[in-house]
Amino acid sequence: MGVVTLGDVDRQIGRGFKFLRFSPDIEAAFLRDYAASRVRLAAIWALIGTLIYDSVFFGDATMMPDVFWQLVLVRFGIFTPFALFSVLALRRWPSARNYDLLAICVAVLGVSLPMSVAVFSSSPYLFVYQNGNVAAFLFFVIALRPRFATIVLGLALMCAVQFTTTKLNGSFDDVTYTGIITFYVTLAIFLAMSAYFMEHKDRLNFLHQLRGSLLHAELERKSERDELTGLFNRHSLARRRQAIWSKQDAAVTVAVIMLDIDRFKLFNDVHGHIEGDDCLRAACRCILREVAGAGETFRFGGEEILVLMTDVEREQATDMAERIRAAIEALGIRNRGLGDGHVVTASLGVALGKPSEASLEDLLRAADAALYEAKRDGRNTVSIFDGTWRGPTGSGAAGDDAAQASILLAS
Ligand code: GH3
Ligand code: MG
Ligand code: MG
Repeated sequence: MGVVTLGDVDRQIGRGFKFLRFSPDIEAAFLRDYAASRVRLAAIWALIGTLIYDSVFFGDATMMPDVFWQLVLVRFGIFTPFALFSVLALRRWPSARNYDLLAICVAVLGVSLPMSVAVFSSSPYLFVYQNGNVAAFLFFVIALRPRFATIVLGLALMCAVQFTTTKLNGSFDDVTYTGIITFYVTLAIFLAMSAYFMEHKDRLNFLHQLRGSLLHAELERKSERDELTGLFNRHSLARRRQAIWSKQDAAVTVAVIMLDIDRFKLFNDVHGHIEGDDCLRAACRCILREVAGAGETFRFGGEEILVLMTDVEREQATDMAERIRAAIEALGIRNRGLGDGHVVTASLGVALGKPSEASLEDLLRAADAALYEAKRDGRNTVSIFDGTWRGPTGSGAAGDDAAQASILLAS
């Protein structure tokens, strides 16, 4: 089953939908929503419907005393257990198709059971009695509200049962019988028409709700991701900082790896910005692959990428930085500005500290200082900040100790 995108929904809204049907993926989403909402209400409608249906037993007693016990049997012995079974079956196998199937069975059974018994009645109140089936028609279309095709089929079957059983009873003259047919056919047509428009409206509402939720999800994604690279953005970094530093877990060491692509301005000047963008995207994909679940990756600036790792040892962080450095070099993206055989590389600075000793800004300053060292040492290198944090907040420590950043891994 495919995933529905905002574009799919916009296209569906734009071109409309014929015969109450969406394109396959949207239709599948609609049916899931339809089944969930109908099954949720099924128990309530079954309770209300069965209570009302069974309470007509008083009408049976006064209007049809000659077949009273048969009517009691069909109401309590057949219909009520079937209504309960339908609710349980739907809970067990909730689907749009099962809902429609059970709705049509309940409706047709609801009309055919008492009407089949009434065939054998010679009550003078049969005309009034059979009028009561209007309630069953309305309950089926307005309360159970299955899909349009099911409604049309259900109404046709209910009419057929109504006309056949009334005819078989034989108490009515032709004019009365024709009147009954005219009344129920008209009722069925009106109900079917309103059911069509109701479902059309339901479907339109569904499309707009789906569009709203997809738009919301996209906005959320955009608010935390960088458009070009798909990495987390600075806004997400602030949220992550809040999550890590608000815990102030003294035992957890946080590592910050700051990466900067080497000679990228030159790359843009020689290859152009479009190729520059492609190169940046390729480098970011490569970083994401290396980091995988070990940390989170943010686009910190233009071609500066930040990797944040928590609960790590110094060795794990430096290993990760070195793996990223080597992987970017291994991409083998030519940087013609540097001459033949030169490929795009990156320099990385690493800093580690505990949230209780250093703020994120301290770690960023320290990683930046280490990165500067890596650049000074000839680029395509990893350098680690070896300074110490001064106070409980650590502010200012990194800037002062920047000179202590030492080159750890040279290529
Ligand atoms: P160094 O090795 O010292 O880092 O040299 P550099 O040329 O990479 O350094 P500098 O910071 O001077 O240049 C960074 C360049 O990155 C400047 C800008 O043109 C480029 N850049 C930043 N963001 C993007 C981007 O989104 N797309 C492209 N194509 N280029 C970008
Ligand atoms: Mg830069
Ligand atoms: Mg650079």
